[in-house]
Amino acid sequence: MKILILNESRQIGLHAHIEKRCAVSPGTVSKLVRKGIDVVIEKGAGFHANYEDSEFERSGAKLIETADEVVSEIDVLACVNAPNELLASTLPANTIVIGHLDPFFQQPLINCLAESNITALSVEMIPRSSRAQKMDALSSQASLAGYAMVMKAANALPSILPMMMTPSGTIKPAKVFVIGAGVAGLQAIATAKRLGANVLAYDTRPVVAEQVESLGGKFLKVDIGETGQTKDGYAKALTEKQQAILADAQKDAIAQSDIVITTAQLFGRKPPVLINQQTLKLMKPGSVVVDMAALSGGNVEGSEPGKTVVINGVTVIGTGNWSEEVSRAATDMYANNIYNLLDEFVKDDPLSFQLSFDDDILAASVITHNGKIRNETLLKAYEGA
Ligand code: NAD
Repeated sequence: MKILILNESRQIGLHAHIEKRCAVSPGTVSKLVRKGIDVVIEKGAGFHANYEDSEFERSGAKLIETADEVVSEIDVLACVNAPNELLASTLPANTIVIGHLDPFFQQPLINCLAESNITALSVEMIPRSSRAQKMDALSSQASLAGYAMVMKAANALPSILPMMMTPSGTIKPAKVFVIGAGVAGLQAIATAKRLGANVLAYDTRPVVAEQVESLGGKFLKVDIGETGQTKDGYAKALTEKQQAILADAQKDAIAQSDIVITTAQLFGRKPPVLINQQTLKLMKPGSVVVDMAALSGGNVEGSEPGKTVVINGVTVIGTGNWSEEVSRAATDMYANNIYNLLDEFVKDDPLSFQLSFDDDILAASVITHNGKIRNETLLKAYEGA
């Protein structure tokens, strides 16, 4: 069984973005090779994560110049993102492609994968269950994003996060407001607390209040009526009235904050706008806003995808690709997610990927197979598009 890893920094992505992560680490290459899998890697694949080709070679991988050399012989293509349509159309039928395929927003690519008879596994669709936790790339990358966003904000702030009492005066701790306390938000809260900030947080799912408090943060209570969550634990969209009550209730907290970090997402849909221009104007010059969702529509009015802008003295960071700020840690975690997925499903002698749709993880995450798109939620979303 042969698995190919691309050098994804060669494909220039959205907003001229160069991918810095890799789908394997030297550690996971060793484990895959021990399992009996041939690992073939495009040269330079680990460069931006500070893993050299020689390290992959020592771990047992075969290094190649370009994917073209082996593309006709592979069983699995493991990516961080997705192959481009050209490469996808040259893969052998039934190749298993694994990656962040962004299926709700990449309909042409998903159609191309289906038409090319590719079995596409979207890591975004892996269920948020205990069994799937070790393969959950959304969580691994969101945790690092939470950390990275605080570090970026701290760097941009013309002050410090902890309280500092010195003979030269006392600096008060920074006030950090985190909106959205899912995986990334909770990690942002924990990081800001560790740095000594006063942390306030809000989420439409009241169940997270306890988690926020257990990290030392305060939870902003706002009564907006019924909110709830989906069966997978994702937030439901709010009504316009609820959004208006919320925006009003958060105004003061935003105005008083030195740093606001927005992490609100709605699975498979555009993220909600949480901060409008009028509220942004209430913030002190020098304050910092990090819009986690800037690349996918934005939580903050005025944030620019891929950029940092200054609006009325407030630095609004929308650079995105947060986990890549710590590309080696992001590679290590993602590579473990991919290894754990392969370890779970690659079995038997001779080794093969056991594609059973009775398995809830595969049933949810394999979105194209046998020439068809096989995920109902996705098909419904495409119909409505
Ligand atoms: P997400 O990235 O979809 O959203 C981030 C957060 O934004 C969520 O907490 C959401 O409630 C919140 N949000 C949405 N709209 C908002 C608004 N208008 N204002 C404020 N906040 C808003 O979420 P996620 O981090 O991927 O987590 C989704 C769920 O999955 C959570 O319940 C999480 O605990 C759960 N989860 C479970 C597992 C597991 O059991 N293995 C693993 C990871 C996550």
